[in-house]
Parts: sequence; structure tokens; C-alpha cells
Amino acid sequence: MKNYIFGNWKQNGDQQLLTQMIHTLQALPEQTNQVLAFFPPDVYLSDAHRLLHNTQKIKLGAQNLSAHVNGAYTGEIAGAMLKQVGACFVLIGHSERRQLFAETNVIVAEKFQQALAAGLTPVLCVGETLQEYETGQTTAVIQQQLEAVFDQHEYENHEWIIAYEPIWAIGTGKVASHEQVQTVHTWIRRFFSKTLSAQQAQNTPIIYGGSVKPENAADLLNMSDVNGLLVGGASLEPQTFAAIAQIYP
Ligand code: PEP
Repeated sequence: MKNYIFGNWKQNGDQQLLTQMIHTLQALPEQTNQVLAFFPPDVYLSDAHRLLHNTQKIKLGAQNLSAHVNGAYTGEIAGAMLKQVGACFVLIGHSERRQLFAETNVIVAEKFQQALAAGLTPVLCVGETLQEYETGQTTAVIQQQLEAVFDQHEYENHEWIIAYEPIWAIGTGKVASHEQVQTVHTWIRRFFSKTLSAQQAQNTPIIYGGSVKPENAADLLNMSDVNGLLVGGASLEPQTFAAIAQIYP
């Protein structure tokens, strides 16, 4: 399976960072087994797409999309619009959306459906809070998050990516232990094996996010069920993100 290195800018960056990032990533050696993408704020997607000149080496993602196809939803952006300005991927259910913008599992499921309908690859973020982690509820929480999306629909012939992001590890400098990451990733793969098929489970990329840095990226990527990384803070500095992108498992 390919190795996915994704950078989530969140509500950060500007046109200067966009140019620097593209320049830095373009200079990296081509890696056929890697999918390298960054997720800037939507307003920069069009410019990024133009600056990339259709290169296949670097892909673009959006951080969110509307749960609706179109209509009177002021301030929302549809999946088809994101696709039109060059996005290939879209984050769905990032913990900041769930916690700060009250996105429920139901909304997340609607957005997942919209992403697939628009031809985007959804990157479904799942993960537990510190309190849930400490009380041993990690897999129960993730099960609910996955069932909300996959129970109602037949998504067999579509592609998606799962990002395991323990909320207590996001932006905190705390990285989940190897044991925790491997256990949860294996559990997620088993979930797909039981609910969909062994083949689907095998083909689903499961990436880890939470305080990834160049110093810890290699160890994470070397774990058997880790198929890539979702990088937040460290993706805002082009050389740092490039350093992570050059660590091949
Ligand atoms: C994220 O926002 O998805 C993330 C993992 O952030 P950070 O790397 O800063 O913890």
C-alpha cells in the first residue's frame, strides 16, 4: 500500500507560505509509493492548483465540505466546488470540527457521502478524548464514529482513508505510544474486515495524526498498520514538512 503524508494547515498560512510550500515540495525527489498532499484553507486551493501545473507529485485537500449539494447555505462550500479548484481529498470529522463546530456523527456521515458523490477521497478522522482514553473507551468511541458512517451505506467500490487522531495528542506535543497506535490501527482494520470485507480492510489506508514531527515520524511510519501521517503544526514550515515527506518506511 502507498504511504500517505498529509499536511493540515488548519486556519493558518498565507499566499507567501503557499508559494514557499509548493516550491519546497516540488524540489523533492519523486516517490512513486508516496501520496504527498497538503490541505490549505479553501481560498488558496485555486492558486495552489495553478502553481502545481497539474503535477502528480503533490496533491491538494480541503479541510471540510458542506453536507449539502448546493442551495441556501450561506458560507458553506460544496464538494463539487472543491473538486473544481483542484482538491482530491477532504478531511471529514476532524476533532476540531466535531468539538468546536458541533459536528455530530450524523453530520460527519452526511459529509462523507457528499465527498464521495463529488469524487473526492474522504479522509475520515476518528479518535478519543483524554478522558475517554483514560477510562478505556477508545475503541468503543471509534466504533461509534465508524458505524455512523458505514452502517447505513454501501461504499464497497469507493476509496477512503481513515485518520486515527487521539484528540489528546493533537497540538499538545504528546504522541500516542507505539503500542496504542498499532493496537488502534489493527482494531480499525479488523472493523472493516468484519463489517465489509477482508479485501476492503486490506485496501483501506489508516494514517496517524497527533503531534507528528520529523523526530517521531520514522518510528510511526515503520509500524505495520500505519500507512501514513496527518501532520498539523509541523506542516506549516515547508522544510519541516519536507523532512517528514522524505522519511520512507
Ligand atoms: C491535526 O490537526 O490533524 C494534527 C494532527 O495536528 P498536530 O500535528 O499539530 O498535532
